[in-house]
Amino acid sequence: MTKMTKQEILVADREFLFPALFHYFREPLVVTHAKDQWVWDIEGNQYLDFFGGILTVSVGHCNDYVNRRVQAQNEKLQHVSSVYVTEPVVELAKRVASITPGGGALSKSIFTNSGTEANETAIMAARCYTGSTEIVALRHSYHGRSNLAAALTGNHAWRTAGTAQAGIVFAHNAYCYRCPFGLEYPSCGVRCAQDVKELIQTTTPGRVAGVLAEPIQGVGGFITPPKEYFGIVAGIVREHGGVIISDEVQTGWGRTGGKWFGIEQYDVVPDIITSAKGLANGSPIGLTSAKPEIAAAFPSPTISTFGGNPVTSTAALAVLDFIEENQLRANAETMGARLREGLEALASKHPLIGEVRGIGLMQALELVGDRRTKAPAPRETSAVLEATRAERILVGKGGLYGNVLRVTPPLNIGKTDIDEFLARLDRAFDAVPLD
Ligand code: PMP
Repeated sequence: MTKMTKQEILVADREFLFPALFHYFREPLVVTHAKDQWVWDIEGNQYLDFFGGILTVSVGHCNDYVNRRVQAQNEKLQHVSSVYVTEPVVELAKRVASITPGGGALSKSIFTNSGTEANETAIMAARCYTGSTEIVALRHSYHGRSNLAAALTGNHAWRTAGTAQAGIVFAHNAYCYRCPFGLEYPSCGVRCAQDVKELIQTTTPGRVAGVLAEPIQGVGGFITPPKEYFGIVAGIVREHGGVIISDEVQTGWGRTGGKWFGIEQYDVVPDIITSAKGLANGSPIGLTSAKPEIAAAFPSPTISTFGGNPVTSTAALAVLDFIEENQLRANAETMGARLREGLEALASKHPLIGEVRGIGLMQALELVGDRRTKAPAPRETSAVLEATRAERILVGKGGLYGNVLRVTPPLNIGKTDIDEFLARLDRAFDAVPLD
């Protein structure tokens, strides 16, 4: 039971928190507790959670196995900061090294507290290693909320005032549904990737520190590039002296099925990966892993008070063990296929759905007012979101035009829940009248 009523909580939220904090729904949802794939609100309503606190609850809320290990660590040692060495941190770093792309090529890690910090660290490392300041980012990207991370973000909604920073140029993304060049894959020759060469040669001194990209753009609405895209971009960026930074904040740790990291779906070995969210199932964590020569170029000395916290590191180790022991990367692949099939079936029934896209358990629906003109339907998307609440399912929203629904259940989701979710989502679409 809560001490405050729902109204008191909502009033206090408005009165004492920054008004800039964004909430879903006309009336924000007040959540009181959660277990596995279920979330309860303050009125006792039970929701099937297919968003996981923005792709963070990767193995279910308050996961028993993870919690047991976290609680044991809590009894033993909670905090000493990075000026001392602890076993959970080095064990996690060793474990991460063993599973990084390229057979463990990114063998050096540094821990922080969020995806934002992980990206800040990666950019600093790339700039120090290459001696160049220029970073290629992608339009429609999201990389965090600090000044630099917001400046690396290719979406006006999240580029708040004061983000102007020199040394960042934006490439067109591989948004095939709305091709920036008006072309069609594959006859386009992946023009968006080829264009990175001209971008570098016309808007930078011709040498770059690197490219920062999400394998699937998360906040951007799960924009999923064609399979050749990252290979082409990586070749061009390396030709111009830069490193490849894969932002795996949403796509890491088995989310896309089969592989540990999203970039592995594209057969590219990056030089740096950044991550956060799903690695620790809700404990705040940030991770930057790099090839040893890049890590060696990072300015010394550096510290992080909470980065590499023993409790958080234990949570992350437990998550990785849980994923491995329960073969959840394989589960994400098979359940992802089932979810995808169900979403395609909804698309054939509901004209609002313009495209279904994603990989594994990272699937999205882009909603349009008219399939021919592809006019974005942000108003209807908000209406469907409200209807999902009424159906007691949780999904995410995203996209530059606010017209994408994001569906990301925990990696240990089963058939019954997927089928139940699809039935409820179907009813949510039925509830939204078309103009
Ligand atoms: N990168 C990506 C791809 C993200 O989706 C996010 C968060 N939505 C971030 C970075 C920033 O992470 P955080 O909110 O933990 O700072």
